[in-house]
Amino acid sequence: MTIPTYEVIALKMGELEVDKSTITYATDFGKLIKVPIWSALIRGGEHKIIVDTGIHSREWVNENVAPTKQTEIEKIENAIKTAAGWDVDDVDIVINTHLHYDHCGGNQLFKKARFYVQQAEWEHAHDPIESQKWIYNDTSFLFDPPGVDYFAWHFLQGDSEILPGIKILHTPGHTPGGQTVLVKTKEGTVAITGDAANIMENIEKRIPVGILSDTDQFFKSLDKIKPFAASAICGHEQSIEPFQEKGFPRLT
Ligand SMILES: [Zn+2]
Repeated sequence: MTIPTYEVIALKMGELEVDKSTITYATDFGKLIKVPIWSALIRGGEHKIIVDTGIHSREWVNENVAPTKQTEIEKIENAIKTAAGWDVDDVDIVINTHLHYDHCGGNQLFKKARFYVQQAEWEHAHDPIESQKWIYNDTSFLFDPPGVDYFAWHFLQGDSEILPGIKILHTPGHTPGGQTVLVKTKEGTVAITGDAANIMENIEKRIPVGILSDTDQFFKSLDKIKPFAASAICGHEQSIEPFQEKGFPRLT
């Protein structure tokens, strides 16, 4: 079977202001930083694919979680139109790296899509560990009916090649059901990590993310991704530009 040549486009879904220690474990306490929220669009094959869908709305996040900014073009429906000329109903596959509010907030817009998530993430989202209850706090409307019907979900158990050239790796650590999407492109394989690594510093300096369900699994997930990928889009990396299509940060 021929593997399509895919292109990956980074979609900025807004910006969060957070204490850096929530991103780099036990370092830089009290340092407030602004970080982008990344989703990605994959085109080039038969399917129109989105990885993560950003936040539900700026107002909801400001009120319920953290200070955030989002411009009109950063709303997922506008970003996919600008990047690829797609409407929400054109998208037939949505992959959620995990179900935190800033990665699945736009799911309910994609009425014609099939959603891929790890079974373990689905279960965790409905019964999170105590330290993450505040993150999933009242967010089930983002992924439960009537927002997204159960029948639209495809639950993965571990690693899976969902299409030729697009592979999912189960990469827990930040959450029990985190997954990384590996996409074959002309420039080599791009790893869309979600929050398996929030930023490149987590990978390069081997500093865990600040929000963890299992520190040991965090390191194992990094080691699992590296042999497969040439570059990465981490969920909140600051050096990536909106609508960037190539030259993503290199994994060494
Ligand atoms: Zn997260």
